[in-house]
Amino acid sequence: MTLDAIREKLHARERLSFEDGVTLFRHPDVVAVGQLANEVREGLHGDRTYFNRNMRIEVTNVCVASCLFCSFAKLEEGAPDAHTMKLQEAWSELEARLEDPPAEIHIVNGLHPGLPFSYYEELLAGFKRIKPDVHMKCFTAVEIHFFATHYGMTYLEVLQRLRRAGLDSLPGGGAEIFHPEVRSRIAHDKATADEYLEVHRVAHGIGMKTNATMLYGHIETFEHRVDHLIRLRTLQDETGGLQAFIPLAFHPDGNAMRNLLAPTAVDALRTVAVSRLLLHNVPHVKAYWVSMTPEVAQIALRFGADDLDGTIVHETIYRAAGSRSPSGLTVDHLVRLIQEAGRVPVERDTFYSVVREYPRAALPESAVKVRDRKANKHLEVLS
Ligand code: SF4
Repeated sequence: MTLDAIREKLHARERLSFEDGVTLFRHPDVVAVGQLANEVREGLHGDRTYFNRNMRIEVTNVCVASCLFCSFAKLEEGAPDAHTMKLQEAWSELEARLEDPPAEIHIVNGLHPGLPFSYYEELLAGFKRIKPDVHMKCFTAVEIHFFATHYGMTYLEVLQRLRRAGLDSLPGGGAEIFHPEVRSRIAHDKATADEYLEVHRVAHGIGMKTNATMLYGHIETFEHRVDHLIRLRTLQDETGGLQAFIPLAFHPDGNAMRNLLAPTAVDALRTVAVSRLLLHNVPHVKAYWVSMTPEVAQIALRFGADDLDGTIVHETIYRAAGSRSPSGLTVDHLVRLIQEAGRVPVERDTFYSVVREYPRAALPESAVKVRDRKANKHLEVLS
């Protein structure tokens, strides 16, 4: 199958096959693949590019699992650098930001064997007491599966109890690579692919929206990536509950796969593009700036991505794995990244309702960006 034949399929609104996906990943001209994805992206969203005001919190890095790519988890409470927040410590993160509060709190954690389930219920309820309209996007499908097995409940019971406490949606983490040839090697002791997908299916069944991810750029092949994307497309055919897909670049520092190289910028752009093309039924593809750096994420907005994620504030998982990205970005910075990519910034809520639409920038802007006018008086004449 050639790129022209794939283009014709897309114009005829035919879904792409497994072989098409592999052809796209293998195609040497990443810009041509990106242009196809950009057409699809503009057909869905025009120039609109989304972001939100969100905040990441990891309440515990204690974890019973031993994923090879993980630089975040500590195996036991009491191990050096192991940390589990007291509830008030977690809530204080929001209390400290009430002047410019996040619209969404995104919580993911290790699989802690020693906490009572009530810890998580109280955690959610406490955030809602502080800010009743904050959206709680918490606990990956891997965590929900762990809660179900550890506390002796079904997925439905776990989700219903957490929802009563304040849970609004699920993030997409924990998907890694679904194919057993890879998953059994890099993440053998946590939820399987089928269990991950079943948690999302059950969440969708009670009207809860979720996201999905794929950790790429380590030991997997392009065929494994396409298999992963098609499994998500099949789930979406069934439930329609996935809001966004987020490709996550593998980072090798501080983990058991540190002998591998991190994926390059071209691989990141190609993965965004092929994801957009294969997942025609998932509305949004994110360029997660933490994973791919703000600079590459900005370019990805022309390779099929329509969302930069958010302000984030406190990312620690990728930083532990050697990411050079900052741990948070301001709204002004996100708006500038989007405007200078020639797109229209749209601040959204978690369900992609518009909070504020910004104007398109008049390009090109001044070449000199003065960060602090007082500190750069000599530059003011140039700006
Ligand atoms: S990726 Fe998640 S489940 Fe795996 S070791 Fe790290 S914290 Fe635990």
